[in-house]
Amino acid sequence: MTRQELFNAAYNKAGVIANSVIRRHHGNIPKYKDYPAAVISCSAKHSNIHKEEHSRSCQHYKFDFRILNLLKVIGNVDGPSNVKDCNNKVGHCAEPHAANEMIKTSMRLTVGDLEFSPAIRPRTRQIIQYCGNCKATFGL
Ligand SMILES: [Zn+2]
Repeated sequence: MTRQELFNAAYNKAGVIANSVIRRHHGNIPKYKDYPAAVISCSAKHSNIHKEEHSRSCQHYKFDFRILNLLKVIGNVDGPSNVKDCNNKVGHCAEPHAANEMIKTSMRLTVGDLEFSPAIRPRTRQIIQYCGNCKATFGL
């Protein structure tokens, strides 16, 4: 996957999610909080597989051990992180969700093989900065 292909996959997914939020509101304008904060696409070196995921709680979500081990470094999964100046709960970002779906496609993959698109806000389709948790976890 090229950077552009990965970006396009995330951008398209952001549009699909935004449209589904709007459709669910039956003509009423959705509120800020009705949209997921971010969408991202994740692939791996030399792979044509890619996974798009959005930010959400991970309370009922089981991370693969390869992702889980890294998340534990920054705090308790589904709890506050110990990364300075980052208020996102550990495991709630789009990045770990997408990374998890991608890494599950092959036991041979490591986190170091993963490649990420920019993070996109579905509500505005703007590129947003990776958060402190994700920078620390995935070296973004
Ligand atoms: Zn993040």
